[in-house]
Order: sequence, then structure tokens, then C-alpha cells
Amino acid sequence: MRAAVIREHGGVDVLRVEEVPEPKPAADEVLVKVLCAGLNHLDIWVRKGRPGAKFQMPHVMGSDAVGVVEAVGAEVTHVKAGDEVVIYPGLSCGHCGACARGERSLCASFGIVGFQRPGTFAEKVAVPAYCVYPRPVHLSPEEAGGFVLAYLTAWRMLMTRAEVRPGDCVLIHGIGGGVAICALQLAKQAGAEVIVTSSSDEKLSRARELGADHTINYRKEDVAGHAREITGSSGVDVVIDAVGAATWPIDLSVVHKGGKVVLCGITTGAIAETNLQAVYWNQLTLMGSTLGSMDDLRRMVKAVEVGNLRPVVDEVFPLKKVQEATQKMEDARQLGKIVLKVSD
Ligand SMILES: [Zn+2]
Repeated sequence: MRAAVIREHGGVDVLRVEEVPEPKPAADEVLVKVLCAGLNHLDIWVRKGRPGAKFQMPHVMGSDAVGVVEAVGAEVTHVKAGDEVVIYPGLSCGHCGACARGERSLCASFGIVGFQRPGTFAEKVAVPAYCVYPRPVHLSPEEAGGFVLAYLTAWRMLMTRAEVRPGDCVLIHGIGGGVAICALQLAKQAGAEVIVTSSSDEKLSRARELGADHTINYRKEDVAGHAREITGSSGVDVVIDAVGAATWPIDLSVVHKGGKVVLCGITTGAIAETNLQAVYWNQLTLMGSTLGSMDDLRRMVKAVEVGNLRPVVDEVFPLKKVQEATQKMEDARQLGKIVLKVSD
């Protein structure tokens, strides 16, 4: 089968589409024929390599996908060949306390499809049976292909971690990214007032079309100052941050007393200074968030279905153009999801 693989870590040029052996599903696994697969920032970390992380080369890239079940292992009963599914990319042990509660992203051995095992940028992918979930019927394959990781991450940050309520003011950094756009849609659906930031006026204008109440161009304006003006000097209730080191100091100054900051990514770096006085004096709640639980997944998919939400697809590339697609994400030129079309 054809797959986008790496044989070594490095730049975009190490991504190759090659013939590789088809995966064989184990007894508790499902083989999925991939229709479309979404790109995530995680792909860049995998391709560049992480200290201490070992990959079996050639390594098949990709964490998100929509497809059709082609075969199931002997122990699998809840899905069958022909079922249309999306992939929950979380991998966990299945028997610890966290897993028993469905909190797979809290499992000590948590991993991700496309990182700890071969991924979805392939004509076929084998995943543990709990990773397949019915595809929301109102979404096209292009929309569903990059749907789970970003929406689920945004859902857990907003709903489970920050417990956003109608009337809350939520600030979302870097509105071009997949998680940020999903967070905008979900926060609006939850009745929040939403402020978004970007360095691109074009992305901010598109964000307003998608429901953003206020926009701040961080290259031209002071984010914390402008946000305080918008909120009448008190600051925002919740900050959604997938950016990391560059925005962390802003997070602590833009949130009002008693507010919450939720972090899910470190695109701009993992090490940042924290003003501890701001943390205790303003009684801030600082939270991390990774992917989501099985309950988060169920609620998120239901919310997307009943709210008729549609993932924002920036562009669809054929699998063979994986380098071009990845370069666009790496240059942060996208707004929403970049999707690979793998098969019809
Ligand atoms: Zn576990």
C-alpha cells in the first residue's frame, strides 16, 4: 500500500510516499481503509524527532483519519467491515485506573497513533478497536478526516478543564491553528464571548465570519491591553493557549482575578517565565490539557452533530503532495485543517 513515511528525522524533504507492507490487525484491532487524513502540528514534532523517542523506520506519519472498516480482529464485536469511522488517536494501556474511567489521556502509558505506532497517512491503518468511532454523518470525508484530534483537544480544554459557561469571555491565541478554530466554534456554541488573536488581518477577518466577537492583531496591538479594554478593564475569564512560550506571559496578564488558563501545546517553545505573584494574588487556575477522554469524545461528537458544526478545511491535498501540505502548515499559512485525500 502507499503511505507517507519518514526513514530519518529532518525537514519536510524526509517525507516520502512509498510502498510499504499493509498492516495486519491483531485480535483486538481494526483495519481501516483511509479516505482522508488531517495534518496536525504533532506531525512536525514526529518528523523532526523528540529526545528519547524511538521510531521504527520507515515510520508511517499521521494521527487523524476518516475511513471504512475493512477487517476486524477476532475479539472485536462493536464494529464490523463496512462501518464508516473516524479515529480517536489516543493509545493507552486499557486497564489502569485512568483507563477504567475512560480517561485514556491520563494513562501513564498514553501515546498517539502516528507517534507510538504507525499512523494514518496510508491507504490502510490498523488501530486498537477502541480507537474507532462512528463518523458524524453530516460531515464530508474531507471535513471528517481532520476532525477528531483538534475538536477533541478544544472540547476538553473548554468544557472539561475550563468549564466554560454562557456569558464567559474566552480569549483564543493564534486563530489559524486547528485547535484554535475548533475552540472558537465550540466556545460560540456554548454561548461565550470570544476574542481571537493572530498576526494576519486576513485570518482575523475570517475568524469574525466564523463568529469571533473581537479580534486583536498581536503584531500591531498589545493583546492584554486591548483585551482589558474589551472586557471593561477586568480581563477575560478563560484563555485557550496552544501556542506556548510566546503567549504564556500574556495569558497571566490578560486573565482576570480568579480566571483560568488552559494550555495544550508548545508551538513556540516549552520553557517560559511565570510571574508567581500574578498566580497567587490573582488566584489563577493554570491547567494543562491533552486530547480527551472517551466521554469527552462522545460529548464532542454529539455537540458537533446537534449544533451542525462543520470543521473549517483550509485545503485538501492528494497524499502524494504531503510535502507541500506539510510545508503550508509549517509556514502557518493555513486557517483550519489541512487534509490529505488518500483514497476515494
Ligand atoms: Zn491506562
